[in-house]
Amino acid sequence: MQNPNGQSKIYLGPEAWAEFCDALSRRNHRIFLLTDTNTHRDCLPLLAEHLQPDTHFTMPAGEAHKTLATCAQIWQALTDARFERGDMVLNLGGGVVCDLGGFAASTYKRGIPFVHMPTTLLAMADAAIGGKTGIDLGGYKNQVGSFAQPNAVVVNTAFLQTLPQREVRSGYAEVLKHHLIYDRSAWAAAVASHTLPTHWDDTVASAVAAKLHFTEADPLEKSIRKALNFGHTIGHALESHFLAQHPVDPLLHGEAVAAGMWCEAWLSLQRKGISPAEFNEIADLLAHIYPKASFAAEEVEVIAAWCLQDKKNSAGQVRACLLDGIGGYAIDQTLTLPEILASLHQYRQDYP
Ligand code: NAD
Repeated sequence: MQNPNGQSKIYLGPEAWAEFCDALSRRNHRIFLLTDTNTHRDCLPLLAEHLQPDTHFTMPAGEAHKTLATCAQIWQALTDARFERGDMVLNLGGGVVCDLGGFAASTYKRGIPFVHMPTTLLAMADAAIGGKTGIDLGGYKNQVGSFAQPNAVVVNTAFLQTLPQREVRSGYAEVLKHHLIYDRSAWAAAVASHTLPTHWDDTVASAVAAKLHFTEADPLEKSIRKALNFGHTIGHALESHFLAQHPVDPLLHGEAVAAGMWCEAWLSLQRKGISPAEFNEIADLLAHIYPKASFAAEEVEVIAAWCLQDKKNSAGQVRACLLDGIGGYAIDQTLTLPEILASLHQYRQDYP
């Protein structure tokens, strides 16, 4: 099931999905299925037509549960079911289930095979691809994790039929990010349409191709893969801050990334990486799709402080990827605290 180069095999589209499910149903290893409460209700029925797992664990839905405590429960459930190295974990869910299930599988007995079946746009276009797994710790995003490639990623956009529209919009932020750093013409098409697509197969296929471009060339994020972090330095800080302040109704990952892209595009403008016209185009499209992430002026310093723990930092300095034109990027850019503060204040002031 794995490509010879150690990368995951990607199954795209309904036919490939059925082919994968058929192959799995003739398997000679056991399957541990991980769902969350929502994917258990909405996505499992579609899978159950093809496949009966041997063991099933359902976690509570949401980023607040992407924790060591949930991971320990999964390790325990794998142990109780006597799962062995030849067995497999199947993650049916969004980025939270894929990140957490991938981490649990990649560490249980020093690693057992796992497969992602992403059910959100965000996971199909981004989180399920490229082999980053992880959990949050002390509120910091993905503070503990591993680089571990799933044996396969099986993408079927039929799952999106039950995904709430707010989640679809959140996932589209990562699609727009891929366009901005990699695909000028896809970005131009998004600007021209100025709204969310309604058919997802082509959009997901192009987002997967963009993600693979970076992750296959640089699986361990030593160089160009860092481009995928555009919008995420300030985006993760906003996500952590909102999760700490409003745990019941936090900012979604893509919503935080959209606000982070605005701030980091503004910083790109200050450094002359993009022109005022390019910045206005980006700001206009983001404002058309994403509501403002509202925070008070007094919260700006607290949000900026979250950036100091970002995984991309080096020698105590905050490192980010900024834009170098539309479709281009500049990795390893050092951001000063005053710059981060200025971008957040500018967002508060200018974002409609
Ligand atoms: P999520 O997994 O929390 O899913 C969003 C919500 O949708 C949840 O409530 C979930 O239960 C529900 N849901 C999922 N599929 C559904 C469906 N088909 N129908 C109905 N409801 C459904 O969040 P997400 O936005 O998918 O992922 C965000 C996470 O992904 C973050 O933790 C982020 O850090 C991570 N991420 C990881 C990578 C990576 O490379 N590993 C990249 C980007 C994001």
